[in-house]
Amino acid sequence: MFELIKLPYAENALEPVISAKTISFHHGKHLQGYVDNLNKLIAGTKYEQMSIEDIVCISDGPIFNNAGQILNHNLYFEQFQAPVHPSDEQICSAAPRLSKQIETQWGSISAFKAEFESKCATLFGSGWVWLSAKEDGTLIITQESGANNPIRTGLDKFGANLKPILPFDVWEHAYYLDYQNRRAAYLVSLWDILSWGILEVRFN
Ligand code: MN
Repeated sequence: MFELIKLPYAENALEPVISAKTISFHHGKHLQGYVDNLNKLIAGTKYEQMSIEDIVCISDGPIFNNAGQILNHNLYFEQFQAPVHPSDEQICSAAPRLSKQIETQWGSISAFKAEFESKCATLFGSGWVWLSAKEDGTLIITQESGANNPIRTGLDKFGANLKPILPFDVWEHAYYLDYQNRRAAYLVSLWDILSWGILEVRFN
């Protein structure tokens, strides 16, 4: 049985970037729904004893969709903190190895953010944009539709095993209550609540 993750912050802690109302629906209704659906779907099957990552890697159809959304949302919600609007210097201090690799590949934190936001803005329909690490430590930004996660798609689509570091949820349910159709405003605000310390741990 999978359980809904507990948020490491209060429902209103991410305001004004993400409202308590959005958190209550996104975490309390959408993610809870994926958890409930998956538990029903895997009851009495071989998936019952597997980790969520293993289910995402080998399942298809409704089991994959619900498992993928659980894994994706757990990574999404667990990477946030109360808004701080960090400077590039603060980002480099919180995530020294990750920021160094970003600067090596993109030239600057802001150039990386611009490409990441662009990949989010141009993703058609519901999906996710990911920063992942390859086994050699280099980074890649990928777009995924639906419930896909780089641990499932990396080898087939990009020729490398990918470790997810940073997801932005660009399903409309992630931002519509707060930003309506202004997806770009949601994206630019998300950087203010991102815990670079957590990303550094994922990267290491
Ligand atoms: Mn979502």
